[in-house]
Amino acid sequence: MAAALDLLARLGIAERNPGTCLGSEWLPADEYFPSVDPTTGQGIGWVGRCTRSQYGLVLRAAAQAFEAWRAVPAPARGEVVRLIVEDLRRHKSTLGSLIALETGKIKQEGDGEVQEMIDIGDFAVGQSRMLYGRTMQSERPHHRMYEQWHPLGIVGVITAFNFPAAVWAWNAFIAAVCGDTVVWKPSPKAPLTAVAIQHIVNGVARQTGHESVFSIVASDSPELAQWLVEDTRVPLVSFTGSSRIGRQVAQTLAARMGRCLLECSGNNAVIVDETANLDLAVPAVVFGAVGTAGQRCTTTRRLIVHESRAEEIEKRLVDAYRQVQIGDPLETGTLMGPLIDAEACVRFGETVAELERLGGKVLAGGKTLDRPGFFVQATLARAENHWSVVQRETFAPILYVIRFRSIEEAIALNNAVPQGLSSALFTDSLQRAEQFLAAGGSDCGIANINIGTSGAEVGGAFGGEKETGGGREAGSDAWKAYMRRQTNTLNWGRDLPLAQGIQFRIG
Ligand code: NAD
Repeated sequence: MAAALDLLARLGIAERNPGTCLGSEWLPADEYFPSVDPTTGQGIGWVGRCTRSQYGLVLRAAAQAFEAWRAVPAPARGEVVRLIVEDLRRHKSTLGSLIALETGKIKQEGDGEVQEMIDIGDFAVGQSRMLYGRTMQSERPHHRMYEQWHPLGIVGVITAFNFPAAVWAWNAFIAAVCGDTVVWKPSPKAPLTAVAIQHIVNGVARQTGHESVFSIVASDSPELAQWLVEDTRVPLVSFTGSSRIGRQVAQTLAARMGRCLLECSGNNAVIVDETANLDLAVPAVVFGAVGTAGQRCTTTRRLIVHESRAEEIEKRLVDAYRQVQIGDPLETGTLMGPLIDAEACVRFGETVAELERLGGKVLAGGKTLDRPGFFVQATLARAENHWSVVQRETFAPILYVIRFRSIEEAIALNNAVPQGLSSALFTDSLQRAEQFLAAGGSDCGIANINIGTSGAEVGGAFGGEKETGGGREAGSDAWKAYMRRQTNTLNWGRDLPLAQGIQFRIG
């Protein structure tokens, strides 16, 4: 506990923290909710619940801040992001440790998450000079036609527990250089990380005078997220979380014709064919399935393996699974920490029981651990793709092994789930690689060859199809989601020719 408090203190936060920030001022809380360490099941600290009236104040300030922020030149907005990124570099290890403490991911992955914030921040700084529009050729003489991209307004960002920092950064840094203000509703399962980030942001806000560009409203009640989703002052809500809640968010936004950017559940497969190099495939599958204790949206949940390689790969995986060191995520040598909470352990147990009822064979793991905290074993099991347990995302380290005979069958199995986030094929065959990446191949937003399903870089657009929600964040041209496009036609001649050659003479 003393070590945890020392860690919090180094990030400028206390055991008990307000959870609502107006400009760079924290609003006092009447009620608090706990942040729990999944490694011990004990509390780490407390965060204040944002009330309805505090939410109203934050929204009003974000709307006012938008009026000024959208007039700041985009490269100058990039400079504000650059200053935040500098602070993140300074705090990388401490913030990485807090992420590990609060979510149970190992320290390496906690630090990696902060690095991802830094990477997307650097990307956003460059993007701030590249909010390009196109010029079109008008069909009318002496007319100029072009499009430009304008700031959108307040962007609501709702985040999941498993990437409590990076997902905010993907959205917030890009939205900010686009000229939007951002109101963040963090996960109630990792609220201290959010408070620590807001402290870093506040320092830069005070230094630059750009207050209320980034705000936070925290609560453990779903009501707060619903206020944000229903709020017509918020033209875009970026939601990261389960498909179940994402569907509700999408419906509410559709009803008010607001925009949504959905990053929901995944059910990702690795295909290993007859020609695959298992020295690449095995470590990639183990990292993809066991890393973050199976709690990544891009976690490898299905291994679709050619029948001629199945025995060998199962043997190598069972061997690798035996070596996975489970324990305190902050200790060196640990490869897998706990699940996020007791409910996640129950879901893990229910899924393994259902799998066995369906006729699945557990090859490794399968048990929850009898120790404090929320630990389970890394689990490998034979299954069939159409089974209920395989069709849904259980947020835990369970990998299903499924056999195939032809590449066409493997691709069909890859696609035969409701989700469509990440996918990978291990092969040494050029033809198969291209077949997997072609229009009739993987139906996922991410399709890789000879690397696993998890661990995307920020330069590409991230997101998936079907029940994953269709959103794209981070790199490529994902910035366009945070702006409004305007088409402009300007007549610099002395006549008024109409489009399509229409004559419309008056008098
Ligand atoms: P969750 O759906 O339980 O919660 C996500 C967020 O939604 C939280 O902030 C929660 O407080 C909020 N919320 C709760 N009720 C709400 C409501 N009625 N309206 C609006 N928001 C509400 O998800 P989780 O358990 O925190 O995260 C795990 C899930 O997130 C997994 O399904 C995972 O695949 C997904 N995920 C997806 C991506 C991606 O980029 N595709 C990234 C990370 C996590």
